[in-house]
Amino acid sequence: MDKVLVTGGAGFIGSHFVKRILRAADISQVTVLDALTYAGHIENLGEAFLSPKLSFVHGNILDTALVDALVEEHTAVVHFAAESHVDRSFFAAGAFVSTNVLGTQTLVDAAMRHGVDKFVHVSTDEVYGPLPLGSASEASPLRPTVPYAASKAASDLVAMSYFHTYGVPVCITRSANNYGPYQHPEKIIPLFATRLLRGEKVTLHGQGQHVRNWLHVDDNCAAIELVLREGAPGEIYNIGGGTDFTSKELTERLLGLLGADWDSVLYVPDRLSNDIRYSMTWAKLATLGYRPERDFDESLAETVDWYRRNTDRWAPLMRNPHAARPGVSLAPAAEEARVH
Ligand code: NAD
Repeated sequence: MDKVLVTGGAGFIGSHFVKRILRAADISQVTVLDALTYAGHIENLGEAFLSPKLSFVHGNILDTALVDALVEEHTAVVHFAAESHVDRSFFAAGAFVSTNVLGTQTLVDAAMRHGVDKFVHVSTDEVYGPLPLGSASEASPLRPTVPYAASKAASDLVAMSYFHTYGVPVCITRSANNYGPYQHPEKIIPLFATRLLRGEKVTLHGQGQHVRNWLHVDDNCAAIELVLREGAPGEIYNIGGGTDFTSKELTERLLGLLGADWDSVLYVPDRLSNDIRYSMTWAKLATLGYRPERDFDESLAETVDWYRRNTDRWAPLMRNPHAARPGVSLAPAAEEARVH
């Protein structure tokens, strides 16, 4: 697997992954295929373009001819490209089904024709749905409740069907919530950090009781590389091992790091659907040698500092017309409170 095609490599996690595998001596070529939607930014790859191993193709994973030609030139595919924001899926579910399900099928179909060594499909813990108690293993049922998670669950099933039917060496990773630099400010950590940096209020859904497991993007990328190299075809690997917080506990930490207090928080009615808790076991990945390394408090402080020092990376996104949709507002919190 010396020639790796990375879809969605200009997004948050994909760009970290590309920088990581460019450092691997046994990987000779890394090609990013990315449509540069509102969520993709060529700047996320930044210094990676100094590497002669990197090529960038501006294109859509739904473009069968393009995908076919690119997959043919590579020995492995790592598939990140997706519509990834739950709130947007409440208002534009069609795009989620089209990119996440049909896009995955287009890629895995090309992988079948050209016989790649490994196809890593990047998925999420949200496919297991809410777990008020206990933790999901890879064998647990899929019970997605929101259109985003349903489209990811469907894409997992499609990808794995190509392993069972045609022997395509598919591995699926399902990770917890990621955080770190370069994340789009529509997601909760950068959204709250950038609002507090601007001296604005943040909004907590319900009573801030929803639990998420927070994993640093570097730990997730290390795990995905491990699965690319060592994962057994036909296997699913949960990537957990982050830190559990309710959104209220997370907010408390962000307020502390940004020198704000609870007066900066507005409580708003819960969103249309909001899973109470996600939780996964990750023993299978541990047998391959996975151990998350990042300390949450230290890494959250580093992340906030990145947003503090890189205003030019996120301020222009505040004006992005794609963000001006109910439920995905980057506007001041008082306006957001009105649309719920
Ligand atoms: P992101 O939204 O930051 O990036 C998605 C990238 O895909 C963007 O660069 C975008 O331009 C590209 N893209 C979208 N549609 C495309 C298309 N049709 N053709 C080509 N490129 C297209 O997402 P992310 O947070 O980096 O997530 C990456 C993957 O990881 C997704 O599959 C997501 O479901 C999964 N995941 C994310 C998290 C998380 O916390 N962010 C957690 C678990 C799993």
